[in-house]
Amino acid sequence: MTASFSAYAWWEPWDLLPAGLDATLDYLAGEVGVDGLCVSATAGEVHAFRPRSAATPRTIRCPPAAHFQPAARCYAESRLRPMTAAWIRSTNPLEQIVKACEKRRLKLRVRAVLLHAPPLVEKYAFAACKDAFGDASPARLCPGNPDVRAYAAGMIEDLTTNYEIDTVDIDEADFGPAAGFHPGRLIAVSSGLWAPGVRCFCESCRQAAAEAGVDVEAAALAARTALESALADADPAPQGGGPRSAAEADSGGAYERLRRDAVTQLFAAMKRRARRPLWAVYGDDAQRDRGVDWLRIREFLEGGLLTCDSIAAASTTGESIGVLADALGGAARVGIVRSLAPEVRPAPASASSTELVAATTALAVTGHRVFIFGDCGIAPPHRLEWVRQAVRFARREASAGSAKP
Ligand SMILES: [Zn+2]
Repeated sequence: MTASFSAYAWWEPWDLLPAGLDATLDYLAGEVGVDGLCVSATAGEVHAFRPRSAATPRTIRCPPAAHFQPAARCYAESRLRPMTAAWIRSTNPLEQIVKACEKRRLKLRVRAVLLHAPPLVEKYAFAACKDAFGDASPARLCPGNPDVRAYAAGMIEDLTTNYEIDTVDIDEADFGPAAGFHPGRLIAVSSGLWAPGVRCFCESCRQAAAEAGVDVEAAALAARTALESALADADPAPQGGGPRSAAEADSGGAYERLRRDAVTQLFAAMKRRARRPLWAVYGDDAQRDRGVDWLRIREFLEGGLLTCDSIAAASTTGESIGVLADALGGAARVGIVRSLAPEVRPAPASASSTELVAATTALAVTGHRVFIFGDCGIAPPHRLEWVRQAVRFARREASAGSAKP
């Protein structure tokens, strides 16, 4: 299946409302020539300068929250409820954006950041991830927790049944990177050494392990051993510390598979309640530490991809898209990845119009058909002209490509 050509401009709801929605969408549809708009439905921490003069206050600061009004009935199966951002008060920005897009025949895709949610973790402590030492994550909801699953599935139902949207991009729906699991705790010399630190030992994960016949205590010991070794910077074994015994290695491996299963089940629960395509977002941590978080990619491939419709790659350069495309190559060959939506940014990632056009066109030549132009709402206005050119060239390349026999 080949996706038809679609270019989306990312513009956050707090930069569109209360003023500027109509003018911005007129400009995007009429001048820039994109096919759609991409907005956050739920987001992580926002602390941003709002560069457009019409928007006040000039700085927006907001903890992770929903930027729409949730419909309570969708969350009835969970004890968790979304928390709405203070700036929206009693308004429903998403409803206004849907209407404005419909009027201009712009598609609308929304991004839902799900499990990175410090305010929810604070309120619903029972749903937090817990590391091998028993310390609860202050930021991460556990994908293996049944309330979390019902909450995430409810949000997908809410977004795809109550709003005329095109696609939902699912972000942060796994156990996350070490920096997300325990923000601010990192000391080890390489972030790769933290991999055992994001193995969750919360009650739900322990129960899943017990049901699968996995020795939880041995797995926890293996994780603690690897972490202690990383913290001591003791001549690390090749795989970040390495377990001491075969039993620890076995339980560690089995525990990794349980992690993947938890992610798979979360995505499956969301998919069951979705009325629109779900794309999984693979984020920038692939680039951290000069390398790739292979554990996360594998989990993501085997978990999210089996149940999601496609991948949206939050990436800033053609090169990192290449890294991700390589990682996804195997899945693409067996037809799991139907398309990949690279995110290209007019700022700060691209230094010139030529660079943005070249990166976008190169991706179109290699068969990409869905593009998300990130951070359009905060890029200096003249850079939207770069986006216009990139869309035009990529569209031309895409139609030339489809015309070939
Ligand atoms: Zn857990």
